[in-house]
Amino acid sequence: MNVVSGSETVPPDHLIKKHSSLIRNGLIELPTLKYGIPLAMGNFRWTAELILTTYEQANTGLPPTSGLEYKVGVSGGGFDVLDFKMKSEPLPDDELEKAIDLSISLNKQGIGRKIDIPLPVYGGGMSLGSVSLNFMLARAIAAQYLKTFTSTGEGGYPEELVPYKDHIITQVATGLFGVREETIQRAPVVEFKYAQGAKPGLGGHLLADKVTAAVARMRESVPFTSLYSPSPFHSVYSVEDHRKHVDWIKTVNPRALVSVKVSTPKDVDMVAIGIYYAGAHIIHLDGSYGGTGAAPEISKKNIAMPIEFAIPIVHKFLESEGVRDEIVLIASGGIRTAHDVAKAIALGADGCVIGTAEAIAVGCTHCGNCERGRGCQVGITTTDPELSEYIHPEWGARRIINLYRSWCIQWRRILSALELKSIRELRGQTDFLVYKKKRRKRLNF
Ligand code: SF4
Repeated sequence: MNVVSGSETVPPDHLIKKHSSLIRNGLIELPTLKYGIPLAMGNFRWTAELILTTYEQANTGLPPTSGLEYKVGVSGGGFDVLDFKMKSEPLPDDELEKAIDLSISLNKQGIGRKIDIPLPVYGGGMSLGSVSLNFMLARAIAAQYLKTFTSTGEGGYPEELVPYKDHIITQVATGLFGVREETIQRAPVVEFKYAQGAKPGLGGHLLADKVTAAVARMRESVPFTSLYSPSPFHSVYSVEDHRKHVDWIKTVNPRALVSVKVSTPKDVDMVAIGIYYAGAHIIHLDGSYGGTGAAPEISKKNIAMPIEFAIPIVHKFLESEGVRDEIVLIASGGIRTAHDVAKAIALGADGCVIGTAEAIAVGCTHCGNCERGRGCQVGITTTDPELSEYIHPEWGARRIINLYRSWCIQWRRILSALELKSIRELRGQTDFLVYKKKRRKRLNF
C-alpha cells in the first residue's frame, strides 16, 4: 500500500529498496558481459559499448579494462573518425597527477571574480521537471566534491540545492520559470539559455504528466498542464538588447560570471562575437547531438551544426578578431567520453559541458523514453515520486565522481603522450588530430 506524504504519494521503503538494488546490481553486472551485449541498447553515437563502459567507469573510477571500446562510437563521422597523433608513451599513472594540470579558468576578462575549475568540464542544465530532484542532488554533490559546477537548467532553483550553491549555475531561459533575484544573487555563474543544440528554434516543452505539484510550485504554474518556453527571448533582437540582459544580471549580482548558451547555426561565428561584445564571460556552444528523449528526432538530426564543426569555426573567428583570450569557449551537445572532451579542446574549446554521460553513469540506458508517461524507469528523467526514489543522491554522486576520476586519468595519459603539461596547452592544436582510416563496426547489430 502506498504512503501519502503531503500532496504526493510515496511507495513503501521495501519496494524502493528492491527496485533500487536490482538497478544497482544490473549496473555492476552488465559491463562484465555476463549476459552479453544487450541487443537493443544504444545507437550509432552512444553505442552499447560506450554505455557499458560508462557504467564500468562509474563502478570503478578507472579507465575500462573490459576490452570494450570506450573512446568512440560508430557514427562514421565527427569525433568518431578523429584520433590523436601521439608523440610518445605516457608517463606511468602514478606520476601523471603531479605532472599534468587539468584546470581551466572561467573568467578571462582580467576583471571581476576569478573562477578556476580543476577539470575541464562541468555539468549541463537539467531542470527540475525534466529530471528528478534526487538526480539533481546527486549532480550537485558530485560538483561540490570535484570543485566544479552543475546547472539548475531552466526550471527554477529548488531549495534543496542551496547547500551546494557555490557549485551551482542557474539558468535564465526564455520561459523565465522560477527565475528570481535571490536565485541570481546566490549563483557564481548565471547562464542565459538562448537556444539548445538539440532543438534550436523550438523552445522547451515539459509534458503535462511530469508537471507534478512540486514542479508546478517551482515554476509558478499549474499542476498537470504542459509548460512551454518560447523559442526566442522576445526582448532580444540585437547585440544591444543582449547587452542589456547581461547588464541586468551584473546589476543583480555583480560577482556572477555570465555564460550565454546558444546552438550552432550557420552564422555561429557572428553569434559568438556578439556574445563577446555583450560582455559575457563564457560562450557556451551547444551542438546538435545533445539531449536525450526530450528533443524530437527531426530537430536533433537536421537543424543545428554538429559541435565538431562549430568549435573550430568560432575559435578561429574569435582569434581573427583578436579576442580569443578574453572569453571562454565551452562546448556541449554530443560530448560522450574523455576522448571527445580532449578532441573538442584540440579543435579550439577551453572545456566542455556534460549532460548525458552523467545520466548514463547513474543508469540511463539511452532508451529515449524521458518524456513519456511517468518518465524514466531508472529514476533520472522523472517526477514520479516512486521512480524518483530509485536514485539515492549520495549513491548517484559517487558514480558521477567515479566517472570523472576515470576521465581525469585518461586526459592525463593523452596529454602526457602529446608531451604537454596542461590541458590549456591543447586548445586549438588541430595538428595533434588525425582522421582514422579504420573505423569500428557496431557490435550489437
Ligand atoms: S533511461 Fe531514463 S534518462 Fe535515459 S533515455 Fe531512458 S528514460 Fe531517458
